[in-house]
Amino acid sequence: MDSEADLLSRYLSVKERVTAAALRSDRNPEDVCLVAVSKGQPAEKIATLCRAGQSHFGESYIQEALAKLDALALPITWHFIGHLQTNKAKFITGRFYMLHSLDSFKLAEALNNRLAAQNGRLSVLIQVNLACECQKSGVREDELEQLAEKLLNLPTLDWQGLMSMPPLSTKPDENRPLFAKLRGLRDAMGRRFGKNLPQLSMGMSDDFEQAILEGATLVRVGTSIFGPRTQT
Ligand SMILES: *Cc1c(COP(=O)(O)O)cnc(C)c1O
Repeated sequence: MDSEADLLSRYLSVKERVTAAALRSDRNPEDVCLVAVSKGQPAEKIATLCRAGQSHFGESYIQEALAKLDALALPITWHFIGHLQTNKAKFITGRFYMLHSLDSFKLAEALNNRLAAQNGRLSVLIQVNLACECQKSGVREDELEQLAEKLLNLPTLDWQGLMSMPPLSTKPDENRPLFAKLRGLRDAMGRRFGKNLPQLSMGMSDDFEQAILEGATLVRVGTSIFGPRTQT
């Protein structure tokens, strides 16, 4: 049985590992935001972690996410990290702080139209498909610059950096070159557009420490905190 004490002890252990990895790479631990990925996890566990001081949570499926946002009246900063269809853009604005998975100009335009009408803003990251597995979402490297250029014309979207979701690794070090590559791309885009792009969303349960060593500012950790997912 997974007790509340088990949950809290896994959470504290992940937090300590995040801090240790930041210090090992000569970075300020406060510059690494732990996003607790709560997809497939019950609202009660989110509430428990929130009471323990966790404020950033990430969801991947919009219907599931909305049910939890409605159920939890807690001071939570929500991140949407999964693929979002353009016709679902309306569910994001005003409710989520950041979209990690922007992958098309059509989606950006839909978000911008909605936000303009609401006088709102949204922080966004462009998701890059580094390993080029064609079934996964995210833009290819060679499409990134074009999307970024058009995105910069949309006043309500605050482009803050890049996100990637490399293949599930069997060894923690396996994806490290991909993390380094994403950082290089982020730096190149910053120079290309003369824009500060502070955020790099990379690293999950099995490799968040390696991602932090390569400069991750947002790590998305699910099962290492929550345990196995119970619903999807
Ligand atoms: C599910 C998910 C995660 C977290 O995965 P874990 O292996 O459970 O840590 C991170 N990022 C995205 C985009 C996800 O969908």
